[in-house]
Amino acid sequence: MQSHYVIHRAVLFGKSQCALGASESPLLDAQLLLQAVLDCDRQYLYMHPDQALSDEQWERYRQLIEQRKAGQPIAYLVGTRDFWNMSLQVNASTLIPRPDTEILVEQALKLALPVQARVLELGTGTGAISLALAHERPTWQFCAVDLSEEAVALARRNRDTYGLTERVDILQSNWFDALAGRSANSRRFDLIVSNPPYIDPDDIHLEQGDVRFEPRSALVAEDHGFADLRHIIEHGKGYLAPGGWIILEHGYQQAAKVGQIFSETGYEKVNTAADYANLDRVTFAQRKHD
Ligand code: GLN
Repeated sequence: MQSHYVIHRAVLFGKSQCALGASESPLLDAQLLLQAVLDCDRQYLYMHPDQALSDEQWERYRQLIEQRKAGQPIAYLVGTRDFWNMSLQVNASTLIPRPDTEILVEQALKLALPVQARVLELGTGTGAISLALAHERPTWQFCAVDLSEEAVALARRNRDTYGLTERVDILQSNWFDALAGRSANSRRFDLIVSNPPYIDPDDIHLEQGDVRFEPRSALVAEDHGFADLRHIIEHGKGYLAPGGWIILEHGYQQAAKVGQIFSETGYEKVNTAADYANLDRVTFAQRKHD
């Protein structure tokens, strides 16, 4: 029988394995995976270095370490990822929420919007953006859509966990399609937000790290990554109230072109904001007042 590992040795074992798998943060990875198995926080690991793992715990941990060594994202292995002030469930049907996307949330909160704003999110994935905004603005109403049925189910679970069921409607839709037949009034949003796929299909980064395991439909867009950004900008006009805003995440080299598409489509007040690495990450613009 396998001699029992204690917490301290299990962490060291996991760290060395994750390092062999070319993880950039092998110690943290091992700690997070062991925390998931023991259902404890990081401090607990430091406080109980000599606690033995049961056979089941050791076996489960060893399997997770093996998967991490093979490159699986930590978020998929532990099933959650923190975003804004929430811990969201994630699975392989959605993009893993990124800290950079919190910039989109911050910028959206700075826009001049009605107290009872109606917000549309396209490609909600885990629900991260809408749920963060809904949490910050208790008087706003949301409609969030995603193409993937699994993502819709996941986003609904996250929404319900945070008690936002009444204010965040989550639908299966290919971009605007599910809204197309609605009355003009119910199609008028004050804000459209999206972190759409924007990576060029030929980008070499698709072969590296976590993105290898994320759904390509959430990452990659035709036309060097611009196809969906352009679709949202062009069709978004028909779903915005006069004076309404669109805010979009994009690649760090895409700001100028996204701004140009906004201008050519007749939007005004086009502006870009940088992420925490000081890279252009979100661009927003306003539909003209009538
Ligand atoms: N920011 C993500 C990445 O570069 C891509 C997200 C997206 O395509 N919307 O990994």
